[in-house]
Amino acid sequence: MSNRCLPLSARSMAICILLMVFSAKEVSAQRSVSKGTFAIQTVSRSITGTPLVWDDHKVFLLTAYGKFEQIEFKDVKGFTKRSDLKFVFSKSSFEKKLKAEFGDRYQISITQDYLVVHPLGQGNDWPNKIQETYNSFRAYFESRQIPIAKKTYPFVAIVFGSRSEFDQYAKKNNEDLARQVVGYYSINSNRVMMYDRSASREASRNFETIVHEIAHQSAFNCGIHSRFGDTPRWVAEGLGTMFEAKGVWNSLRYPQQSDRINKELYQHFKKNILNKRRSGWVGDLVIGNRMFDKKTEEAYSSAWALTFFLMETNPHAYVSYMKRLNKLKPFQPYSPERRLQDFNTAFGSTSFVEGTIVNFFRRFD
Ligand SMILES: [Zn+2]
Repeated sequence: MSNRCLPLSARSMAICILLMVFSAKEVSAQRSVSKGTFAIQTVSRSITGTPLVWDDHKVFLLTAYGKFEQIEFKDVKGFTKRSDLKFVFSKSSFEKKLKAEFGDRYQISITQDYLVVHPLGQGNDWPNKIQETYNSFRAYFESRQIPIAKKTYPFVAIVFGSRSEFDQYAKKNNEDLARQVVGYYSINSNRVMMYDRSASREASRNFETIVHEIAHQSAFNCGIHSRFGDTPRWVAEGLGTMFEAKGVWNSLRYPQQSDRINKELYQHFKKNILNKRRSGWVGDLVIGNRMFDKKTEEAYSSAWALTFFLMETNPHAYVSYMKRLNKLKPFQPYSPERRLQDFNTAFGSTSFVEGTIVNFFRRFD
């Protein structure tokens, strides 16, 4: 059965976890951000990192490996400020940590930019596909003169051998997953997680999941989105779903505009938005994330359509808008009013954009 034949409710979507360990509102009254590096000794471990935010009880550190860690002051035995200390790590020490975490049933493969944890005996398929996707992501933006930041630590992608192991890992890390989630990127751990569906009828979707989640991880680490800013959900998911189309991740082989269409989401968009002559959906997407909680399929297909339209017709304005978002202050809420104002400044009113999108998509009928 092709993916397109699946009923709407059966679509497995690569939804990502964009939750922080605290809400932006909760943190707004706290103090941030310190320069320098601290080596902290707690009752159970030693940890080195840069404080991002703290209050009277706890501190959140960004560690050398890109993970976001919470430390309770009551557990701290001592600490040293080491402002001259640069993050020191090697891929081999990182590999050792991952080996200890995942055990002998998993293999750690090292590529130029990644450490990929995957089931033993599956060759280089997973690491190669993951690295190639990351290369495609960079090439997509660089070919559009959009600067990509240098990453500061290697990325981690984990491919579990089964759904149950994927669920167990998420549970252990307090990441609450709905059944339709087949992969996710965690802002807190900076890791991508997915599981092997080769043996299922959805085998062909392994690759879509890789592309979607690696696009999230790359965007949050290479200066496209701000990892600790309140990035609008439609922007993050619009980019992730846009990359699923073969003409986006492999434009040399598939150069036509029609190859850049995410065909499944286009069908959903056409059925639920265009054919029903819905109005107000661009405004709904722009002012907040509510649509993603209430109407998931509609939110994903609309976010894809809006992003695809903007990147195809007005890439310079889209890039300016992304730059603006990238300057959002860490851990500060992004109000509906400001979201709307920034969107209007970049593209015009939401009703104007909505009308133009309807005309734009008529050509694909
Ligand atoms: Zn996603």
